[in-house]
Amino acid sequence: MLQGLLKLLGFQKNSKYVSRYIQDMNMRTSIYMASITIAVECYMYFYILKKRYWDIGVPFDGALYFQQTKNYMILLLTGLLLLLVAVFYKKEVTQWRVAGYGSSILFCGISLYFGVVVSYNDYLDGKQILAFLTMSLYAACMLIWRPYISLIMLSGLYYYFFHQLDLAVEGGMRTGDKVNLFTFWLSLTVVAISIYQQRRQVAEKAEHLELANARLRHVADYDELTGIHNAYYFFEAAKSLLQDPELDHRDKVYLFINLENFKYYNDRFGFGAGNEFLTEVARIMETVFDTGLVARQSDDHFLVLTDVDGAEEQIDAMRDAIMNMQQEVRIGVKLGIFFPQDKETDPRYAIDKARYACSLTRDRFDKDICIYDDRVANGFHRRQYVVNNLQAAIDAGYIQPFYQPVVWAEDGTLCGCEALARWVDPTYGFLSPGDFIPVLEDYRVIHQLDACIFESVCRDLRRAMDEGRPVVPVSLNFSRLDFELMDDAVQMLEDLVEKYRIPKDMLHVEITESAISENLKDIEEAMNRLRERGYALWLDDFGSGYSSLNTLKDFQFDVMKIDMGFLHGFDKNPKAKSLLNYVVSLAKSMDMNSLTEGVETAEQAEFLRSVGCGRLQGYYYGKPMSVTELRDKIADGTYRVSETA
Ligand code: C2E
Ligand code: MG
Ligand code: MG
Repeated sequence: MLQGLLKLLGFQKNSKYVSRYIQDMNMRTSIYMASITIAVECYMYFYILKKRYWDIGVPFDGALYFQQTKNYMILLLTGLLLLLVAVFYKKEVTQWRVAGYGSSILFCGISLYFGVVVSYNDYLDGKQILAFLTMSLYAACMLIWRPYISLIMLSGLYYYFFHQLDLAVEGGMRTGDKVNLFTFWLSLTVVAISIYQQRRQVAEKAEHLELANARLRHVADYDELTGIHNAYYFFEAAKSLLQDPELDHRDKVYLFINLENFKYYNDRFGFGAGNEFLTEVARIMETVFDTGLVARQSDDHFLVLTDVDGAEEQIDAMRDAIMNMQQEVRIGVKLGIFFPQDKETDPRYAIDKARYACSLTRDRFDKDICIYDDRVANGFHRRQYVVNNLQAAIDAGYIQPFYQPVVWAEDGTLCGCEALARWVDPTYGFLSPGDFIPVLEDYRVIHQLDACIFESVCRDLRRAMDEGRPVVPVSLNFSRLDFELMDDAVQMLEDLVEKYRIPKDMLHVEITESAISENLKDIEEAMNRLRERGYALWLDDFGSGYSSLNTLKDFQFDVMKIDMGFLHGFDKNPKAKSLLNYVVSLAKSMDMNSLTEGVETAEQAEFLRSVGCGRLQGYYYGKPMSVTELRDKIADGTYRVSETA
């Protein structure tokens, strides 16, 4: 109750926004009130001139006229002052706020003074107290103070006026006048309170809206994690920056920055530490590229638009600072660079290109920076082409599995094949998986290609079986994304097997080691189902990644495909042999068969056989070939099909 009353009287604390809003409203009202006053006072000048001189034919006396009109003059001047201040008032400037308050208080004071004086004399002359009423209405409406201040001001004023009149008139004021004066005081006070409360409510609503807007603007423009700008802001800001007529687009350069191996930092120190790391990187970027535009796009990807002049030094400084942040995990700072060709170059397009250039440095220890030039542009266009034409190429039959023989190390007989996708395109010619698999993975459409390859393999097997030819098991390369993007990768394989009536032991599922380290849950579940349904699981590219040993600990595979990297330096480096020997026995100890990929010489084959590697695959036995070539080579005895697969 008391609280409500205090609130009604305006004792609560107002925010800066609300106080300013109320003062703004006061200033706006001041414009109307001052204009009315100026008009009325001008009229009074004319009126007196007419009434006291023209109408009765008295010659004009300047000094007397000044004397007669000096009160109007004072009001006119204060009105003018207030109008000027109110018109030029700027809420952000403290001096204008002070001037605003000062001039309106001065105006109210003078108006009230004249109201009191004029009405006092009028009342004694038996006239109405209109001037006082009008002036107090003026002051109250114009300056909506806090209600309790309005209350004190109006009460004091009315009491004073009432008291003076009561003393001055014989027998005191008339009762009717007393009632009128009281009613007027009461209504004016209520009006002042209610206007104030209304204004405050509107101001509070406006403040909430403004806060919500500001928050939305922040979310729209800033990256939540690091606090620097986000890509959306970056693209908009870059666009308007480049369109500045004063600016030469050749002075600017786009950078796409990727932190390589950041995933391992996250794995090792946890997400919290990873987030702190990214925030610190963002801070470094903003400090180093202080005159440019900096944003975080997503994950560990950052965007920069900076001056060509000095960019090299900035890049070096940024790389040094990031490298020096910690020594535990080797974080690579990879950069793609794109120079805008004209002012109209869309920043999204520019960043796409810088990003593509950056992707060419992926997993390359010798290359951290790549500039988007004509050569890179060719690759970029091919990439666009691949993404845009995948479905058409599948429909037209441009994408086919090629088969690479897998043989038993003991006797060289054919014990299987690996299906490897080939895209023979009318525009680009022969495309190898390196040209399209990573792109299709990036664009998350790899499952379309895999579904097409798997079906073609089943069709080829079915035809060979129908023709009564010997067949060998085929291993299929599953992308880790198949388990995410296909509705149900396992079921899809089951459907194909059923449709083409393929024995399940004729298909092996290859999953690369890196897939397993990245997407544990989905893949683990799919692998269990595949095994339950009778498919052999082959671990592809063992030893090419960081988490090889963990993979062995957590999952059971039938065959370990030893990465061809182990054969590098086979002739020159004696350690290569002992390492291979070790990996083969590791597989054996883990209850797995072994297969070495990339066998290119008889020496390699012989060595692998001698250390007990079961299967071999590589150019020494044959490159990937079309189904007809394979069929012919089996038919002409180039490959002898093993009795056991
Ligand atoms: P991968 O599964 O490890 O396949 C082996 C790669 O090594 C093939 O390259 C093969 O041509 C190559 N290779 C085999 N023997 C030798 C050799 O003696 N020397 C050398 N230097 N290379 C040899 P390819 O066909 O270019 O495939 C590259 C990768 O693309 C494959 O690696 C696989 O991860 C992926 N891939 C290929 N086809 C498909 C597919 O249909 N689906 C999916 N998801 N991935 C595929
Ligand atoms: Mg493979
Ligand atoms: Mg492999």
